[in-house]
Amino acid sequence: MFKYETHLHTSETSACANSTGAEMAVKYKEEGYTGIIVTDHFFNGNTTVPRDLPWEERVELFCKGYENAKAKGDEIGLDVYFGFEYTYHGSDFLVYGLDKQWLMNNDRIMDMKLYRFLDHVHACGGRVIHAHPFRDYNYIPMMTFAPHRVDGVEIVNTSHADPAFDERAKTYAEWYKLPVTCGSDAHNTTDRWYGGGVLAEKKFTSALDYVDAVIMGEVTIIEKK
Ligand SMILES: [Zn+2]
Ligand SMILES: [Zn+2]
Repeated sequence: MFKYETHLHTSETSACANSTGAEMAVKYKEEGYTGIIVTDHFFNGNTTVPRDLPWEERVELFCKGYENAKAKGDEIGLDVYFGFEYTYHGSDFLVYGLDKQWLMNNDRIMDMKLYRFLDHVHACGGRVIHAHPFRDYNYIPMMTFAPHRVDGVEIVNTSHADPAFDERAKTYAEWYKLPVTCGSDAHNTTDRWYGGGVLAEKKFTSALDYVDAVIMGEVTIIEKK
């Protein structure tokens, strides 16, 4: 079986993270993972990227955490793929299958309504997983759902202390017959590292391979370490 982390942050790009992309890559390699997908907070989330720079410069800075993780991964034999976590008033949508060039070319995505953005991602060949849909912390002012515009639901987020968040997410996925997956939301390699992610029988060659496997029901959730 191949082991993947599907949802993690780096300190280069996520203001709430404490470990660099390279440190994350080393940690996951040590823990026996085949690959990771770096999903830093996008410009509407808790990003380190200043808001007043030109779009291209912002995208350049945004990709730093991923690029550093990828460089280290290439060195040590860990597959590293790109994603990002797009936030809508506290609700988080993990976007996979797009890349830095796509971001460079799409400087109007911040002006789109959420459903337009999700449609646009799909029209461009990307895929979306609704991250921790029922996380219920103070920083999330409201919960937003788009069951017909996501490809799956993160029903286990191993960073959650309250099991009810995941139980509600499982029920939500069942209601809509949505594919299910797991991510850790790791923000560092030590005190906020919980393991998690998925096991797959086939090796992924891209982040899209991962979402395809989720859609096909071909991933096994790795519960909290
Ligand atoms: Zn964060
Ligand atoms: Zn996250």
